Amino acid sequence: MRITLLGTGDATGTPVIGCNCPTCQDGHRGGRSQRTRSAILVESDKGAVLIDTGPDLRTQMLKNNIGRIDGVIWTHGHYDHFAGFAEFHRVQYNVDVYGLGETLDYIFEYLKFMHPKRHNIPLYKPFNLIGLEFTLFEVVHPPSKKPVGVIIRHAGKKVVITGDCQRNIPQESMQHIMNPDLLIADAIVPPTVGVKKHMNTDEAMDLARETGAKDVVFTHLSHFFKPHAEAVEVYPLAYDGMVFEL
Ligand SMILES: [Zn+2]
Ligand SMILES: [Zn+2]
Ligand SMILES: [Zn+2]
Repeated sequence: MRITLLGTGDATGTPVIGCNCPTCQDGHRGGRSQRTRSAILVESDKGAVLIDTGPDLRTQMLKNNIGRIDGVIWTHGHYDHFAGFAEFHRVQYNVDVYGLGETLDYIFEYLKFMHPKRHNIPLYKPFNLIGLEFTLFEVVHPPSKKPVGVIIRHAGKKVVITGDCQRNIPQESMQHIMNPDLLIADAIVPPTVGVKKHMNTDEAMDLARETGAKDVVFTHLSHFFKPHAEAVEVYPLAYDGMVFEL
C-alpha cells in the first residue's frame, strides 16, 4: 500500500491568516511549513481511498494528480476533516463514504445538498476497501462525540492513524493498535504549548513507545513549531505530500 499525507496542518493551516511568525513566513515562501488541512490518500493496485476530506481538497487532488477516488472514511465531524468533500461536487457523484453512524449523521446534515453513498461502520469491525483491510477504533477528542482512528492492514503490514485525539486512548483501542509498522500520530504542538483536545509531541512519542511502533510520523501540525527545516531536526514531522510505501 501507498500512503500520501495530503494535508498535515491543524484546523487553521499554515500560514495562519494574519500571522507573521517565522513559521508562517516560511509557509508564505512555499517552504515545508506550508501545511494544508487534514486528508490522507491510501492507494493499492485496486484503487484509492481518502481518510478525511479537509477544506483544501481540490488543491491537494490537483497537486497530487488524483483523478478519482473509490471511497472516503471520516474520522470525526470537525470542519477541517470533512468540509472539502463538496470539492467532489460535479466531479464525482455518489461517492461511497464510511464512518460511525453518529459521525455520518452530523456530516450529512452539513452536506445535505449532496448524495454520497452511506456506509455505517461499527467500531473494531474490519471492512475491506480497494483490497485493504480497514478498522475504526475509538479515541478521545472533546467535544467531538465519537472520534475514531483508523487501522489499515495489508500483506502483513499495519498502519495506525490516530486521527485527532488526546493521549488517553481507551484500553480496547490500545489492544488493537499495538505494534504498527507505521504510526501516524496527531501531535499539534511542542510540549511548551498547552493544548487540551490533541496530543503534544511528548504524548505522541510516548504513544509510539507504548505501541512499539516501528516508525512514527507526526501530523495535524500547528504554526507553534519552528519552521519545518529546524523543527524536523527535533521531531519526526510530516509535510504535505509525504509518501510512505509499505
Ligand atoms: Zn483537526
Ligand atoms: Zn504563525
Ligand atoms: Zn478535530
